[in-house]
This record gives sequence, structure tokens and C-alpha cells, in this order.
Amino acid sequence: MEKRFAGRPAAPGIALGALFSLTTGTGARVASGAAESEAEALRSALSAASTDLKDLIARSTGDAAAILEFQVALLEDDVLAEPAFSAIVAGRAADSAWLDAMQQEIAGYESSDDEYFRARAADLYDLRDRVLAHLTGSAVEAAVPPGAIVAAVDLAPSRFLGIDWSRGGALVLTAGSITSHVAMLARSRGIPAVTGLGVDLAELSGLALVDAHRGMLIVNPGPATRAQFDRDAKAAATAGALAAAAAIRPAVTADGTPIRIMLNVADPRELADLDPAICDGIGLVRTEFLFHDRQGFPDEEQQYSIYRRIAEWAQGRPVIIRTLDAGGDKPIPGLTPAGESNPFLGVRGLRLSLVQPDVFRTQLRALARAATHGNVKIMLPMVTQPRELADARSIFEAEVAALAAAGIPARRASLGIMIEVPAAAIAADQFDAEFFSIGSNDLTQYVAAAGRDIGAVADLADPTQPAMLRLFRYLVDTAGARNIELSLCGDAGGDPRAIPLLLAAGLRSLSMAPALVGGAKLAIAATDLDSLAESEPWPT
Ligand code: PEP
Ligand code: MG
Repeated sequence: MEKRFAGRPAAPGIALGALFSLTTGTGARVASGAAESEAEALRSALSAASTDLKDLIARSTGDAAAILEFQVALLEDDVLAEPAFSAIVAGRAADSAWLDAMQQEIAGYESSDDEYFRARAADLYDLRDRVLAHLTGSAVEAAVPPGAIVAAVDLAPSRFLGIDWSRGGALVLTAGSITSHVAMLARSRGIPAVTGLGVDLAELSGLALVDAHRGMLIVNPGPATRAQFDRDAKAAATAGALAAAAAIRPAVTADGTPIRIMLNVADPRELADLDPAICDGIGLVRTEFLFHDRQGFPDEEQQYSIYRRIAEWAQGRPVIIRTLDAGGDKPIPGLTPAGESNPFLGVRGLRLSLVQPDVFRTQLRALARAATHGNVKIMLPMVTQPRELADARSIFEAEVAALAAAGIPARRASLGIMIEVPAAAIAADQFDAEFFSIGSNDLTQYVAAAGRDIGAVADLADPTQPAMLRLFRYLVDTAGARNIELSLCGDAGGDPRAIPLLLAAGLRSLSMAPALVGGAKLAIAATDLDSLAESEPWPT
């Protein structure tokens, strides 16, 4: 009988296949009884697990490699295994000492109030199992048949990467979070994913259909459901082929209005296989990744070489690099304040940069130096009041002057702001910025008082509701009157359903994830601004 389970859409798409459950099993191990040899067994299992991960890194690119580097850093940090080695000295066997130590660590992450840390528990599960597998001699990667609907409670990024997705398939998690690393990987790889199904894994077997647009898993689909799936799959295949062909063409509306298409980049390795001709530049480089996935913060030289590579990739097109936007949904241990009752309203983005000027100055110096290699522009996140922009500008100018005095080539790149705090949107005319970019993700959550990471209020966090469209129109008028370039770089910019409304509100530059460019250009081509202008889609 057909059974339907509802979860949260984590990566769009549809798939039909046999369910394959991934559980964590371990083999048995006979302990030596001597503390010294148990400690040695754990040491060599830790080093073998680290070698596995490094091999996987060598075969991965982009955000996948960065996530695995994060796991290697965790594994190589002595603090992680310290409780296990102490337990071994006290007489425990290596495998049970490791298991207990990791269980405690995982429990700490899982009980965190912060969704970001809860989501990182999956990384720890993976490290636990990888090291255990080396201690017990059992294999980690299950033989997942290609095209399967992979079901698990949650899944570590490295196990996701160990699966062969070349023949499609989908991922369904009974727990999990849409902000976890594995959800991010599924989105960037185009693998449909649903999280939070809240069902016992044992119930998931047989043939299943995943509709990840709606967050549905349908086990044993009946003939009517199968027939609908066939129609949806045909439509999706046609849309995918059309989007791929459209990506390389210029973006023009049906009435002939050209639209600028910019890219959102979270890691420069995403650009490796991408033709710069698909875009008019880069509208947002999220530099947080540099700070998350390494040991310690990147220094000026490391940042300079990464920013320079991005600028050179763009071949003269504008490249907007955002200064560190830590805090809120992007905490950085050791940098963002702990214990804020509401981190989304706390010391985040530019607010944090101004109270941690050393980190900010290093980044600004690297950016000023990279600006000599291309059309680099600097963007400040979470700006609320004009004085914050003025403070940031004087710090930047002081660093450019210091570089010049030291004879180091640098350029005073233009300085713009994200418009993502309602105060900045409403008083945009007060900001002396060289460009504006609307961060519709945060702006919507603050305007609608509906958290961007809270599924239960997702329908209220709609960037196309009248309040948002009126704000966009106001920003278009305000920026236009002062001749300030305006773009939009929130997720709405790459959403084909939102695009006609954004264009009707007057936006002419949109920034989006590279994978969305083709679909966005098709949505633009289907939009006739003349007929939309006649029937204004938002109440005035
Ligand atoms: C936004 O808030 O819309 C945005 C582009 O920034 P982020 O999603 O990184 O907060
Ligand atoms: Mg934002």
C-alpha cells in the first residue's frame, strides 16, 4: 500500500528508485589487554582515517573538499581523542574508549541551542565510524546501488561523497537539517534531498518516489502516483536541457530588456570548470568558508592569493567580495560571541568586524592588494547605520595608505553595502555607498519576523510578498536617483518563480548560484515587462 511521509525540502528534484538504508555497523574486535598496544591501535586507526579523508579530498572539488578538510582538522586536533587515550590508560579497550569519548562529544553538539552546531554532529558521527571501522577492520562505505534512494537517520558529508550518484538517486533523512553540510552538498550536486521525515528507518524499504520540491517521500507508489511521476520526470528532463542551453546565452526579457547576471560564490574552487561567459561578473563572494574550514584564520597572504585567483578568473568583469559575515546562521568558533540570546540580532557581520578590527584589517589589506589584479569591489554585510560605513571606510583607507607607504601594490577598491537590515533599506538614501546589493534572505527574515532557518514559518519568509516588493521598488528608485548600482544577491535572485516579480519591481541585476543561471535566464526570457507593468503585481 502507498505510504506518504512528509519532511523538509533540502535540495530540489524528483527521483524514483529502491530504498537503501544506511546504518552504522561495526565488526567485533579482540582487545590486547595492554594499555600501550591499545593506545597504539587507536593512534594508527586515527591516522588511517585521516589518510582516507585526504584521499577523498584529492578526488573532490569545491565545497566538498572544504567540508572534508574541516573533518581532517577535527580529527587531527589532539583534543578530540584525549578522553579516549585517558580511558585507555585507565584500562579500557581502544574501540570502547573511542566510542564512549565520541558519544559524549556528539551529545554535546546535538544538545546545542545552535542549529549550526547540531548540524555538525553528522561530521562527528562520520569520524567516530571511520576510526571504529579501522579499529575493527569493517568497511565504512556500504555498497549503495547506483540510482538508489539512500535513507539514513543523518549522513556525514564523506559518506555522501563516497556514494556513486552518477545514475541519479536521492537522499532521505529521518532526522537531519536543511542547513547541514550534507544538505548543502546535495544542493550543489543536484541530488534531490528531504530531511526531517521523523519516521523509523526500519519502515523505509521497497520502491519509493521522492518529491524533494514538496519534501515528500512516497513508499510503494500506486499507479496514479507513478503516472504523475513520469509526467514530472519528463518535464524536469526537458527543463534541465533547456536550462543548460540557455546558460551561455545573454539574459534578455521578452520585451528586449537586458538583465545582468552575476554569480554567488562560496568557494573559489566552484569556478574551476565554469566558463566566465555565462555571467556578467561575480555579485557575491561569501568569504566565511575561508574561516570555517581551516585551522586558525587565514592570513593576509592566503586571502590575497584566493581573492586574486577569483579576480583573474573573471577576466575584467566585476567581482564583489563580501567581508566576513560571521554570526547569525554562520557562527565561527573563537570569533563570534558565545551565549547571545538571539545571534541573528547580535554582534554579526560588519558589527563584529568593527569590534574585531584586526581580522577586518587583514581582510581589507588582502582585498586592496587583490584589487590590482582585476575589477574587485568590496561589500560590507549587515550594515545598519551610515556611521558604520564611514567607520569601515576610514579603516580601509588607512590600510590602503599603509600598503602604499610600504611600497606594496594595492588599490582603493569601491566600497558598497549589503541592504539586508530593514533600517538600511528604509533609509537607503542616507548611505554614501558606491553600490548596493540587496540580501533578500536576511532582509526578508527581518521584515517578516520569520527566521530563515525555521521551516514552520517558511511561508511567511517569502521574498515576493507585497512588503518586500514595495521595499525593492523603493530601493530601485532611491539607488536610481543617486546613480548607485543596485543588485540583488539573496536566494530569490535565482528563483524562476520570484524573477518576474523582481524584474517588475525594477531590478535589472541578479546574483545567484552558478547552477541556477540557466533556469534564471529562461525565466527572464519568458518575462514580458511591458505586460507586467500594465498589471502591477504588488499593491501600492
Ligand atoms: C542574504 O542575506 O540575502 C545574503 C545574500 O547573504 P547570506 O545568505 O550569506 O546571509
Ligand atoms: Mg545575509
